[in-house]
Amino acid sequence: MGPGTVRVVIVGSGFGGLFAAQALKRADVTVTLIARTGHHLFQPLLYQVATGILSEGEIAPTTREILKGQKNVRVIQGLVESIDLAERIVRWRFHDDEQSTPYDALIVAAGAGQSYFGNDHFAKFAPGMKTIDDALELRSRVFAAFEMAEIEADPAEVRRLLTFVVVGAGPTGVEMAGQIRELASRTLTHEFRSIDPRQARVILIDGASHVLPAFGDQLGAKTERELERLGVEVILGAIVTGVDATGLVIRHQDGSTQRIESICKVWAAGVQASPLGAELARQSGAEVDRSGRVKVEPDLTLPGHPEVFVIGDLMAVDGVPGVAQGAIQSARYAAKLITARIRASRPGATPADEAALARAGRPFSYLDKGSMATIARFKAVVSIGKLKLTGFVAWAAWLFLHLLYIAGFKQKVSTLLRWAISFLSNARSERVTTHQQMVGRLAMEQLGSRTAGTLMRGESVRRTGDG
Ligand SMILES: Cc1cc2nc3c(=O)[nH]c(=O)nc-3n(C[C@H](O)[C@H](O)[C@H](O)COP(=O)(O)OP(=O)(O)OC[C@H]3O[C@@H](n4cnc5c(N)ncnc54)[C@H](O)[C@@H]3O)c2cc1C
Repeated sequence: MGPGTVRVVIVGSGFGGLFAAQALKRADVTVTLIARTGHHLFQPLLYQVATGILSEGEIAPTTREILKGQKNVRVIQGLVESIDLAERIVRWRFHDDEQSTPYDALIVAAGAGQSYFGNDHFAKFAPGMKTIDDALELRSRVFAAFEMAEIEADPAEVRRLLTFVVVGAGPTGVEMAGQIRELASRTLTHEFRSIDPRQARVILIDGASHVLPAFGDQLGAKTERELERLGVEVILGAIVTGVDATGLVIRHQDGSTQRIESICKVWAAGVQASPLGAELARQSGAEVDRSGRVKVEPDLTLPGHPEVFVIGDLMAVDGVPGVAQGAIQSARYAAKLITARIRASRPGATPADEAALARAGRPFSYLDKGSMATIARFKAVVSIGKLKLTGFVAWAAWLFLHLLYIAGFKQKVSTLLRWAISFLSNARSERVTTHQQMVGRLAMEQLGSRTAGTLMRGESVRRTGDG
């Protein structure tokens, strides 16, 4: 990288991409941030959009607006289709408009999507929760199940409609199951005439032996008891072997199988890194792990390509979990190293610049700030090193920290207002669903990827002129 204005291209506007762009604010660079969506998504609160607490705008402010004051950044909405490491070019498109952007330094923060562990066809019947599309579709499916049950005469069908299954007992699954339970037991109680929403079953399934595996046995067991007290049925040590329109089949540890009749299923298990990871690995000789994450060098670059950083959920670094802090810290690390390199290579660079470069180039080290998950209103679990919190204190900590990281002042204020409505009363302000949301997945499947990229896992990107 030579002196002067250096072209930095960032792929992605999640925690990694956005924080990298912001950390380059004072650097002598021009930044082009290219992302598939026009918004920065706060994924940890997707489940609240899916269950009617928050609107999509509150957790997904426009990237362009967030970065409008940062003059060295240009934001582009586009789907990156390939990266040419030899030519140093990023190829992307917006609908049918295909373009290329050259770079001197590249930060790839394309994140991860849902993994169905080789069963991509499950996605049609059990949407995951990775995008705003997913959350709105799930909102529609959850509320529609109650609507359909209200007009259904057959009691067996009513039971099937009022059985909600969440697969995966990590934080997202626990939060989703807890919220559907609250919705059924509190929010909707007096609104229907033929059905009693409190009769709804909410089932949480996982192959592990306890919920929230990453939080340790003690907090996992406590969370399980709390969920069961709320009325969530927890099935552990069970693998989902089949999913269809009207139910799913699970296999227990003893080899027995069980079919659960359910119209509304949510998939909250497993992640698969962006296919861009495999593309970068192929060109650079880097390895990828089982989730498709790229094994990067200690300074988060690709082997033989010190100008290309892979960060956030797309990188595989021992001891760094796929959480927001991993993305934020790796983004800041990459931005700092790029800045230090530029300063140390410009004419008149001082020994202090050299020393700063040596410091910035030390291997990336991750500071674990802990994990947290909500179970229901006023109830959460927090694990920070040896400190384990549960109940209201944990919930208050969760609330404060999430508010802190939501981007944008407007979003913080309106989120706080919605939370006041939802947590202090039984109401939920965002229950609107549209027919488009309901058929979204099927319609997208017909249309193909175009700008949205791979919506259905396993779908290949179609190009202009394809049938
Ligand atoms: C439902 C859910 C709940 C979560 N809860 C928590 C939590 O409570 N606490 C926590 O710390 N972490 C949580 N996480 C994890 C956390 O959100 C991720 O670790 C974090 O978002 C990773 O940031 P990233 O920038 O690497 O990827 P992402 O945030 O996934 O961003 C990826 C970006 O790349 C873009 N992109 C992808 N492919 C392309 C392409 N081909 N072309 C252009 N753009 C592309 C996407 O549009 C997006 O802007 C949760 C995740 C999910 C899904």
